[in-house]
Amino acid sequence: MDITQGVKTDVKTDVKTPNGMIRPNTFRVVAGPCTVESYEQFAAGAKAVKEAGFEYVRGGAFKPRTSPYSFQGLGEEGLKIMSEVSGELGLKVVTEVMDPYDIEMVMEHAQILQIGARNMANFSLLRRVGEAIAGSDHGVLLKRGLSATVEEWILAAEYVTSAGGDNVVLCERGIRTFETSTRFTLDLSAVIVAKRLTDLPVIVDPSHAAGRRDLVVPLSKAAVAAEADGLMVESHHDPQEAFCDGEQALPIEVLLGLKGVLQPFASAMGREVI
Ligand code: PEP
Ligand code: MN
Repeated sequence: MDITQGVKTDVKTDVKTPNGMIRPNTFRVVAGPCTVESYEQFAAGAKAVKEAGFEYVRGGAFKPRTSPYSFQGLGEEGLKIMSEVSGELGLKVVTEVMDPYDIEMVMEHAQILQIGARNMANFSLLRRVGEAIAGSDHGVLLKRGLSATVEEWILAAEYVTSAGGDNVVLCERGIRTFETSTRFTLDLSAVIVAKRLTDLPVIVDPSHAAGRRDLVVPLSKAAVAAEADGLMVESHHDPQEAFCDGEQALPIEVLLGLKGVLQPFASAMGREVI
């Protein structure tokens, strides 16, 4: 079977994420809450990310919730909270954009635009984001769709790159399988396969894959060994009170130790955890 069929891997290694999110011989960690709930909540979460030694904080202002009755995010107010807090701490922001209409506004407040699993095949959004970030320092974090093949995922990335957006990072976040002990099934082979098919960096989101915090650190170690270029994890200063995904959020004390826990594994792979 030729899985490369149809995939046009013309992205050159030397243009990959010149915005600095992914650097050679490093393992990038992005951490932060699922969603921005308030200034105080995000500030506490972002401060912990900084104290843990990381440079990129995540947080959702526009949330793709399965139910329309769940909290949908603070929207523009959430973006403003993130840029204010991250500016004070010297952190960069990763946040999801769901609607082409919001792209410019999100770019004003964040350096990395996340395209969520549920929007991986939203081709007009992919194209518009690619056009919007072309020539800028902004990057795109493209989650793998819940039921997308590696080929479909890479072709989705090529919608962004072919529209002019070079700084694309792929993110494996678990796929739907018959298994019920975890929220999704983390497909680490996809990380390796994607890296063989394209020069795009690939990171892993063990939080949404597992859906339970006790698996997040072990899966993070596995991600390092699977040649991933980094990690995106959810963390919260008070997981019990989180508006969403509290069960999978790392508490602050675990986040503070994460760099030290991962570094021996990263060293074995010739990488520094950043
Ligand atoms: C998220 O990272 O907040 C998120 C909603 O992830 P996914 O799109 O992978 O479900
Ligand atoms: Mn989440």
